[in-house]
Amino acid sequence: MLTRRRLLTTASAGTALLGGSVLLPFAARAEGDMFDTPHGPVVIHPVSHASFAMETPAGVLYSDPVGDPALYADLPKPDVILVTHEHGDHYNADTLAALLGDETLLITNPAVGGMLPEALKARATVLANGESTTAIGIGIDAIPAYNTTEDRLKYHPQGRDNGYVLHLGGDKVYIAGDTEDIPEMRALTGIMIAFVPMNLPYTMDTDQAASAVNDFKPQYVYPYHYKGLDPEDFAAKVTDSEVRFGPWYG
Ligand code: ZN
Ligand code: ZN
Repeated sequence: MLTRRRLLTTASAGTALLGGSVLLPFAARAEGDMFDTPHGPVVIHPVSHASFAMETPAGVLYSDPVGDPALYADLPKPDVILVTHEHGDHYNADTLAALLGDETLLITNPAVGGMLPEALKARATVLANGESTTAIGIGIDAIPAYNTTEDRLKYHPQGRDNGYVLHLGGDKVYIAGDTEDIPEMRALTGIMIAFVPMNLPYTMDTDQAASAVNDFKPQYVYPYHYKGLDPEDFAAKVTDSEVRFGPWYG
């Protein structure tokens, strides 16, 4: 993994011209953010908004990859792709089709499982809230993700969408998906790295997000999915966790 990561850092990242005229968006940074764990390095590669890649000692996971497949060109290929829910900033069938290798495992919530094109449906593992599976040796729990504020309930109704907790050896990574500060989030324990959304009206404001984080106290927290809000504003309210920033919006 380390060797591959070092090799990747020499790959070109950045703006690319295709056919001399089409300007592609920046490819995700190949180097990423490395965390040392007792089981080996975990490397986080923010891609955009809610999309990221994660290298682990067990293999490579992508979470909610959407957008131009070129965004992922400099990253290692995924062994597992997780999809939290059906919204366009989390699920795009064309992106999935482009990124899925022959051996890549696809894990989705039931609603996305039901709307996948037939070719992808056959290879998806569907997890409902509360269900778990193991992929490439990583335990994966589907955690609820939903709105609780009355005028936001229509966006993410309870029971439909997933967050995920990944078990990497003894370390846990929490990908919240689109949710408010639900009791199931506040009750999490022993999270090493958390990805927590904020933006209105779909998820939380920075007060809600920081309040939840201060309750479950991940070691590290990435604000992501924060379009329209200032992640520094969130960070100023976080008391016990180390806030990590990424190039989520360029
Ligand atoms: Zn959503
Ligand atoms: Zn979203």
